[in-house]
Amino acid sequence: MEITIKRSRRKSVAIKIGENGNIKFLCPNKFSLKNINKILEEKKDWIQKTIHKINEKQKIYESYYNYEKILFLGKSYNIEQENNIIQIGNNTIKIRGNNIKNLLKKWLIKQSNYLSERLEKLAKIYNFSYKSTTIISARKKWGSCDNYKNIRLNFRLIMLSDDCIDYVCIHELCHTKYMNHSKNFWNCVKNILPNYKELQNKIKENSFVLELF
Ligand SMILES: [Zn+2]
Repeated sequence: MEITIKRSRRKSVAIKIGENGNIKFLCPNKFSLKNINKILEEKKDWIQKTIHKINEKQKIYESYYNYEKILFLGKSYNIEQENNIIQIGNNTIKIRGNNIKNLLKKWLIKQSNYLSERLEKLAKIYNFSYKSTTIISARKKWGSCDNYKNIRLNFRLIMLSDDCIDYVCIHELCHTKYMNHSKNFWNCVKNILPNYKELQNKIKENSFVLELF
């Protein structure tokens, strides 16, 4: 178990456990080691449980974490190399070099044009206007929309199914009208996607995808 202590001008104490199982202990500048140990001891059960959960998740999704499998538009494909060609559905990827992970990432980013096109289509259907779309590589967010109506979509979204992609697009498009998560905002989402809560859960279940590539 690796613990990193990070002292700062913060006032409270927090324990964060990363996806790799590393523990970060955040505390005020003058917080003593004795107190740190005391809190770690108190939180021992929670820490062990959380690390156990992370390990279980890693096991379930191991083949994705190892890039033996890949999700593309909600479907799972085995990464089998034959004569330097990978087949993902109707798509063939020619392999140059031997870094499969990088190669797949580049391929996914190229495919994410589909996300911009989908956003454009949905904006037309439901009468939204936005300024631009950018495909980004983020670890925590599927998408975002700024005050100038520039929409950013995470390329990792291309791994999820169409209904999840639509949810993120509609979510960001509703932000062009409401720059918050107010009741009006959620009504905007709900009017277009009455099952949006279901979709949120589906996306949550697939959130491990954000850790890939
Ligand atoms: Zn939002």
